[in-house]
Amino acid sequence: MAQTRIAPPAARNEGQWAFDDAREPLNGNEQFKQDDDGLNVRARIEEVYSKQGFASIAPEDLRGRMRWWGLYTQRKPGIDGGKTATLEPHELDDEYFMLRVRCDGGALTLEQLRVIGEISVEFGRSTADITDRQNIQLHWIRVEDVPEIWRRLEAVGLSTQEACGDTPRVILGSPVAGVAADEIIDGTPAIRAIAERYIGDPAFSNLPRKFKTAISGSPHQDVAHEINDVAFVGVEHPEFGPGFDLWVGGALSTNPKLGVRLGAFVTLEQVPEVWTGVVGIFRDYGYRRLRTRARLKFLVADWGAELFRQVLEGEYLGWTLADGPAPPPPPTGRRDHVGVHPQRDGNFYVGAAPTVGRTPGDLLLRIADLVEAAGSTRIRLTVEQKLVVLDVAPDKVDALVEGLEANGLGVRTASTFRRGTMACTGIEFCKLAIVETKARATHLVGELESRLPTFDQPITINLNGCPNSCARIQTADIGLKGALAGGEDGYQVHLGGGLGLTSGLGKTLRGLRVPAEELPDYIERVTRRFDEQRTEGELFAQW
Ligand code: SF4
Repeated sequence: MAQTRIAPPAARNEGQWAFDDAREPLNGNEQFKQDDDGLNVRARIEEVYSKQGFASIAPEDLRGRMRWWGLYTQRKPGIDGGKTATLEPHELDDEYFMLRVRCDGGALTLEQLRVIGEISVEFGRSTADITDRQNIQLHWIRVEDVPEIWRRLEAVGLSTQEACGDTPRVILGSPVAGVAADEIIDGTPAIRAIAERYIGDPAFSNLPRKFKTAISGSPHQDVAHEINDVAFVGVEHPEFGPGFDLWVGGALSTNPKLGVRLGAFVTLEQVPEVWTGVVGIFRDYGYRRLRTRARLKFLVADWGAELFRQVLEGEYLGWTLADGPAPPPPPTGRRDHVGVHPQRDGNFYVGAAPTVGRTPGDLLLRIADLVEAAGSTRIRLTVEQKLVVLDVAPDKVDALVEGLEANGLGVRTASTFRRGTMACTGIEFCKLAIVETKARATHLVGELESRLPTFDQPITINLNGCPNSCARIQTADIGLKGALAGGEDGYQVHLGGGLGLTSGLGKTLRGLRVPAEELPDYIERVTRRFDEQRTEGELFAQW
């Protein structure tokens, strides 16, 4: 950090490291992070826990530091959602783990896809979910198998490092970076540089909470940049050419906030340095007193964009960013990449829609065979829990599409509901969940397809299992937040949120909790009404 301090302290002690030389921990999380860097748990997993088993894991590693390597205990089966808030954490812990594999930029090689599929089949009861942050999550992982899983992942260049925890999480990137004909700029070199230089760097391994990054040079704004802690959004500068517009402070969950523009233009080469400046501000000035106020969005809300930019330039960069234009509104139309689309090199990219991101290991292996037969070696994951196969030669497209469709992955035939519905992990595996999500969303998609077979307008339906917002309920056309209704599974409804062209937070319908079994009826009613009342070209969020 530079010598001159510009930033003012918070009105009370918020645990900001920049103003507390002693860095006295103000809560249990800050204490365990100060006691030992989360990254150091790897040695104990390899040398002790994997050999002596689940019971040997120290509690602060089990429920704390193991996240730094992508590991969460999963929920003990059979505990209903009503007990989530009343049981002690150890009563919810199963002896199995969720393991999150980070896929920066959503990019996977054919070999990497195969290895994840094999690990899923061999060690994870064939579970695998594509998340809305372009990761792949496996379940039923035993601590005994973790070192072997790491060995296999790392042999092909994959990692679980800082996939969870108070760290810089996976870096989102456009799924069609480097191939799309209408791309403003390819952000891939910046994503790679940040991942290679700073993921696992102890300088950034103790942040106040998680830190999310998005970098996309697509005019379609396809990485949900508005809800990331820092985002670099492709823009054409009238003087300097293509580069990025800098956004900070977006995040959902409780107290959702969309990111704000700093009005600053960042060249591709400057992105890693500017990124370290923003994450440095978060580390040093972020609020650590309460977990509920420890995201960057609270600091940005208190400081405002102007002061944040002054601190970034004056204390961290030591140079001034150029002013830059706002990105133009994205083109209308879908931006989920599903379907067959031309690349700029004459090949095609083929986007497929697994239902709510469910891609069991045996399916991943079949997809890998299809990708190989199509002559491609590159796969990308999307922030809508979908996948894209790049570099498909024109004469290989039809066979690939046919193969994907035969495996239940809609390309040309995916309904608007299959394309637009997402669900978080929910009560099947998540210890915070109150209700079921994945299976219910899958059922919902099937119901809507049979009840509304001709409805083809873009619509997003996102299901969460609790008030956190892992499936971005506040930015969906129809957001469904798990909440018990009369002791049974139900959902609170948020309507009219959006990203990109319709960027904004949905309205909460207070007092309404739709019981789970009435969900198809409710969504059908809302969708029919929209279809009857909408004007030509009107989107759900504009209705
Ligand atoms: Fe778990 Fe809640 Fe996140 Fe769903 S939204 S994965 S239930 S924490």
